[in-house]
Amino acid sequence: MDLILLGAPGAGKGTQGALLAERLGIPKIATGDILRDAVRRGTELGRQAKRYMDAGELVPDEVILGLVRDALREAERGAIFDGFPRNVSQAESLRSILEELGRRIDAVVSIDVPSEKIVRRMTGRRTDPETGLVYHLEHNPPPAEVRDRLVQRDDDREETVRHRLEVYRTTTEPLVAFYRESGVPLYAVDGDRAIDQVQGEILELLERNTPVGS
Ligand code: AMP
Repeated sequence: MDLILLGAPGAGKGTQGALLAERLGIPKIATGDILRDAVRRGTELGRQAKRYMDAGELVPDEVILGLVRDALREAERGAIFDGFPRNVSQAESLRSILEELGRRIDAVVSIDVPSEKIVRRMTGRRTDPETGLVYHLEHNPPPAEVRDRLVQRDDDREETVRHRLEVYRTTTEPLVAFYRESGVPLYAVDGDRAIDQVQGEILELLERNTPVGS
């Protein structure tokens, strides 16, 4: 199954995608994670991408498509796309790449959260550089012993978050209409709820339309 998670930055695509990947036994392809890993490792790709990411802008399509093609080599039974596609051109490219593999997008799930809640979620987000675990100062407070080493993603600062939301509204949100017009099964879920409730609803929607695990 090939599934796209749509939703503004901070809507919970990463969290839901990881749970779904485990449940469905297929990898998650998260372009933001791949880019952050390249930045951490100081590769040429990381150096190129960092200035776009820090500014809350999209990294050029050619770079992203190269990453996705590579990642798909390890995803023969399908993938969960998180943070990709981000614009109509990327969506069209994904359609052709999957077509070459004899596949197509089976479903698109849009995780919806109001903008102001997103700003609060993202500016409170902190990562533990040693374990990679993500906490939230209010909603998922870190244990005292890791608190001092937590870091904030450069692009989770308020000004950048607001800009990323604007980029989402103008550039990524049109994908909802794109997939609706393409006839791809499209579901909207309320992402402003507990993680397991959101996960439960997504699984239910998918199960109703495709046997989970197929
Ligand atoms: P994310 O973790 O998905 O919010 O991505 C973090 C940043 O990585 C974004 O703000 C972009 O700068 C870049 N990025 C991630 N995915 C894409 C994509 N599909 N197209 C362009 N830029 C991306």
